[in-house]
Amino acid sequence: MPRRTASPLLRCASLLVLAGPVLAEPAPSPSPTPPRPAPVAARPGGSGALAAGPRVAAALLAEETVSQGAWKKLEWLTDRIGNRISGSPAADRAVAWAVRTMAAEGADAARAEPVLVPRWVRGEGSVEVTAPTTRPLAFLALGGSVGTDAYGMSGPVVAVSSLEELHAKGGEVAGSVVLIDKPIVPNGGEKDGYGAGSKLRYYGPPEAAKLGAVGMVIRSLGTSSMRLPHTGGTGYEDGVARIPAAAISAEDADLLARLLASGDRVEACIRLTSRTLADVWSANAVGELRGRERPDEIVVVGGHLDSWDVGQGAIDDGAGVVVAMETLRLLRALDLRPRRTVRAVLFMNEENGLRGGEAYARDHAAELAHHVAAIESDSGGARPIGFYLDAGAGASERFLELLQPLSGTGVAHLLGKDDTGADLSPLAQSGIPRLGLRQDMTHYFDWHHTEADTLDKITRDELALNAVAMAYAAWALAEDAEPLARAVPLPVLTPVPRKGSR
Ligand code: ZN
Ligand code: ZN
Repeated sequence: MPRRTASPLLRCASLLVLAGPVLAEPAPSPSPTPPRPAPVAARPGGSGALAAGPRVAAALLAEETVSQGAWKKLEWLTDRIGNRISGSPAADRAVAWAVRTMAAEGADAARAEPVLVPRWVRGEGSVEVTAPTTRPLAFLALGGSVGTDAYGMSGPVVAVSSLEELHAKGGEVAGSVVLIDKPIVPNGGEKDGYGAGSKLRYYGPPEAAKLGAVGMVIRSLGTSSMRLPHTGGTGYEDGVARIPAAAISAEDADLLARLLASGDRVEACIRLTSRTLADVWSANAVGELRGRERPDEIVVVGGHLDSWDVGQGAIDDGAGVVVAMETLRLLRALDLRPRRTVRAVLFMNEENGLRGGEAYARDHAAELAHHVAAIESDSGGARPIGFYLDAGAGASERFLELLQPLSGTGVAHLLGKDDTGADLSPLAQSGIPRLGLRQDMTHYFDWHHTEADTLDKITRDELALNAVAMAYAAWALAEDAEPLARAVPLPVLTPVPRKGSR
């Protein structure tokens, strides 16, 4: 009797349904609109933002707690669009959705500003131990990695924990697959944290190649592992061989370490079909609420719209994106139109090129002198704990004063000046006060750049607090009588590889 099997056509039907209505997907309706709190108009011509601050903060909190506008947008971005690496169809859909949503939610202007982006495709492959035993490893190619031929690149494994140790190995590295095995710890800073690890990931392949290595694998830059590899960008150097590079799970790095400790010769093979295609056009999504008195003066709020091609890009950086979008909606919904313009910029290509940040600085060069502040959120959607601020004399004191109405939320803190967001770094040449909204990152690197970067890692209440913090900070800086003092402009530098980007 013939066995019944589902027809391939039927089995594919759900995929077709998913793919079909993409072009017609609606902007997520801001409805159902909950009862709106009474308008909280700032007093025109008043003595800056201080007087109205407490009423504005309370109104923002009440509105976002009820409306959950940031959460609704993040749910759409992650569940309906999903991950969105630069140049992918999903990234295009995200740009179109963001522009359409900002317009539907009352922005005075919403547009896509073209950005030429790199197009890297992960492909498929394997990373395997081939001696003294055979075992496939859990891996993800590093962003930007070259591929291999069908036979892959194989060699004895040489383990190091730093670039110094790599160089000290000298001739031993020739023909090898280098394992960079350096665990990172939560909030470990430049020594033991993600910042230090990302330098190894970025510079590892070219430094290993200079010594003759044929491939590189790195212990995933994660602070928790359930055999989950973490991807991320890597770099090559002109004139140096481009070798395949992948992250392996912490458990698999431990396996290699144990095999090496046994004294046996350990060999590994990397096969990848990763490739870099020609650059393609994408865009930053930009929306704005024009200022009531000084519309030419601008406060930027932003996050990055692209993500890696795994998971849903929820903590990195869907949360930052929707918090910036929600800033416009909140100010509009509460009839809080500040003196200056608030502009949401959803940057494209932070992860593997920074082209969106560079294009914004270049294309808006003529108006950068009138940008009074820029704030980025790119450290997840957990509880907000404060701001980084890089500005001129007296700016910290004034901004901290402005933040006091948020003191009950735990975000009225200044944390330093050195982590204000990669997308804003090209603005440093203009001295624009740059700010970074920072979240509790205790668990951020558990999921960052993995298949586990999904919406369930964020709670509605904490995301709402982030939206309130961003909206309030933008309002205060756009409303205050005098802008913050500008930073000393940095000279125009030749772009260097980013080491601490997220
Ligand atoms: Zn990232
Ligand atoms: Zn990021």
